[in-house]
Amino acid sequence: MDILQDVIAKNPGEVEFHQAAAEVLDSVKVVLDKNAEYRKLKLMERMLEPERVIMFRVNWVDDKGEVQVNRGYRIQMNSAIGPYKGGLRFHPSVNLSILKFLAFEQTFKNSLTGIAMGGGKGGSDFNPKGKSEAEVMRFCQAFATELSRHIGHRLDVPAGDIGVGGREIGYMYGTYRKIKNEFTGVFTGKGIEWGGSLIRPEATGYGLIYFAQNMLHEAGDSLKGKTCLVSGSGNVAQYCVEKINHFGGKVVTLSDSSGYIYDEEGIDAAKLAFVMELKNVRRGRIEEYVAKYPKAVYTAVKEGAASNPIWNHKADCAFPCATQNEINEKDAQHLVNNGVKLVAEGANMPTTNEAIEVLHANGVKYAPGKASNAGGVGTSGIEMMQNYMGMSWTAEEVDAKLQGIMKNIHQKCLHAAEQYGLKGNYMAGANIAGFVKVADAMKAQGI
Ligand code: GLU
Repeated sequence: MDILQDVIAKNPGEVEFHQAAAEVLDSVKVVLDKNAEYRKLKLMERMLEPERVIMFRVNWVDDKGEVQVNRGYRIQMNSAIGPYKGGLRFHPSVNLSILKFLAFEQTFKNSLTGIAMGGGKGGSDFNPKGKSEAEVMRFCQAFATELSRHIGHRLDVPAGDIGVGGREIGYMYGTYRKIKNEFTGVFTGKGIEWGGSLIRPEATGYGLIYFAQNMLHEAGDSLKGKTCLVSGSGNVAQYCVEKINHFGGKVVTLSDSSGYIYDEEGIDAAKLAFVMELKNVRRGRIEEYVAKYPKAVYTAVKEGAASNPIWNHKADCAFPCATQNEINEKDAQHLVNNGVKLVAEGANMPTTNEAIEVLHANGVKYAPGKASNAGGVGTSGIEMMQNYMGMSWTAEEVDAKLQGIMKNIHQKCLHAAEQYGLKGNYMAGANIAGFVKVADAMKAQGI
């Protein structure tokens, strides 16, 4: 049976997981066609089946004294090359399909970093929006109480993702430490005073732009003077903007789940500081940007709209940093029509497979998140190393390692693509290089 048909039959209704599988299967077909042993050992089929799926009940009491029941998950996808590693997402959309797609992608991403980390992902359908500090803490404690049975610093090391930042990692870490009566680096994204790494908060956004710079340098170009569309306004988007500014580019958009702002003059350092305070401290909405900077325009965007107007502005580069499937076929066509020549993903799977086809067909350089946003988990790997050794590196040291990781991934993508006659196809390169390393490890370790 065709592998994709089998995945669809075995995982009914898990559309995001099917989508991620389809993309990878399409890319690694050239490898499987050439390698009878990979086929015989069913390495791709095995990678598509999580090693372990953990689902658990999380009950907690809200500020009104009412009992709330949420569902928690941890997908331990693949540990052939290292302990399970990947973030936790707290968002009402979280379900098995979304976490399996993320855990599957994570396996390839972590393989590309060159650090010994397997793939995992977890989270909950808990919605942090509008919750008080105390409610977030109680939820995190309840969630971590159950999760703590299944993780460990040499077994499975979670981190943040959408809805989970430094605050949540702190509450979960505190719970784990008390239950286990041990101080180990079982989470990454920790505070700097208690085992965290410098540059980890910045790493995904910085890494994304280092990757884009590598792509542009390859063509003798750079970010200087480029107009950029950035979606999202959380951790990844914020540091993406900071790095684009650093390299002399101009960012004209940011968004949240309600809409986006367009600021023709560019989001400079002062405006970015305002956004950081708005989002990270006050936990407000991006719409407030236009009250402070009235020359900018806010546009509300309905979820599920046929196209998102954020992608319909003149620009050179686009960096989707919000969530999955935020660029569909129509959006991709708008990007092309507006002169965008480079799309690099800060989010995981923000571009649909049909949209990727449009970008490729029109000669747009496209970097999949598993390559271009790997700086986050790569720096998590650096945090783990520091924890294992009981030492800490300076910001300059970590940043230099991050730059090295991104440069390496860029090279690996180009090399793998070229080996199979797909020159310049970063998606194929990332999938092939990510796959081969894990497949070889699985092969060596037997069935
Ligand atoms: N959630 C991030 C990602 O998608 C980071 C995961 C981590 O640091 O473990 O890669």
